[in-house]
Amino acid sequence: MVVIMENNASDEQIELVKKQLEDFGFQIHESRGVQKTILGAIGVQPDFDTRKVSILDGVSDVYRVTNPYKLANRSFKEDDTIIKMKDVELGGNKIHIMAGPCSIESEDQIYRLAEVVAKSGMKILRGGAFKPRSSPYSFQGLGEEGLKLIRKAADEFGLLVITEVMQIDQIELIYKYTDIFQVGARNMQNFALIKELGNIDKPIMLKRGLSAQIEEWLMSAEYILYNGNKDVILCERGIRTFEKYTRNTFDLSAIPVVHKKSHLPIIADPSHATGYRDQVPPMARAAVAAGADGLMLEIHHDPANAKSDGPQALLPETYLKLVEELRIIAKAIGREL
Ligand code: PEP
Ligand code: MN
Repeated sequence: MVVIMENNASDEQIELVKKQLEDFGFQIHESRGVQKTILGAIGVQPDFDTRKVSILDGVSDVYRVTNPYKLANRSFKEDDTIIKMKDVELGGNKIHIMAGPCSIESEDQIYRLAEVVAKSGMKILRGGAFKPRSSPYSFQGLGEEGLKLIRKAADEFGLLVITEVMQIDQIELIYKYTDIFQVGARNMQNFALIKELGNIDKPIMLKRGLSAQIEEWLMSAEYILYNGNKDVILCERGIRTFEKYTRNTFDLSAIPVVHKKSHLPIIADPSHATGYRDQVPPMARAAVAAGADGLMLEIHHDPANAKSDGPQALLPETYLKLVEELRIIAKAIGREL
């Protein structure tokens, strides 16, 4: 932590700040210039609240120089984390796409879409059985019936399943049917839920919160890692801004930032990030070019009648064409898809 004193801070104020820092357990390195005194405080604890120093008399600014997350930090683990699930390795050279409908709606729907995912050569089928809807009047998902349908369809085509968990009391049930737990954007800081997911032995895909900073997102990943589950996948799904021509603003730059700051794999979800079908392929291509380890894409064979998120769902033929384009981009950057 670096503490910058006011230009006119008195010797007495400087000594009091030093004494206080020592009492907090820091080692101090003092640098006195003509106008400014800068105190370097070594030994900051991850949970230290820097405001305790900011409010002291004579202090101008306080900067943290270490990240508050440890286990998710690239400096804790230099090599990329690779998550192994059956024949899938996520976070390595190969890029994976998780595709499927927003919600599981019927046996026919999920079978048709599972077939499309398999045809594209991808290995992970997505579909929500418990849906976090903004309105209580909207379709809430098929619940356990939906879980049974997606599991059956995935098994039929040799695919893995990813589905969303919204509450602690759904974990046990979903565990029976899924390979990966999805934590939605609205639950990124549901600490009770993510702590509990730290205790299970299946990967967790943690979506970025609607208005979460990357550091807050990594702190949520830290909760899961700290509680014992090392298999965390991050998912950039767009953040809220003032822009209204897209559903959210796709923060593409989060991809290289996360790769630099963390060893965890990061995938991108251009479906929720943009909210409109025509914007999805360009942003999917951009995400692969930017270094995403995977993508999440919503697809539907009859989007006009989809029970949720129809406007952002790709038709099967558009999706299949997109996958071929993404293969070319992956190859151009030395990766495989
Ligand atoms: C979803 O994946 O269908 C979903 C609800 O996503 P998000 O949590 O990103 O809104
Ligand atoms: Mn959706």
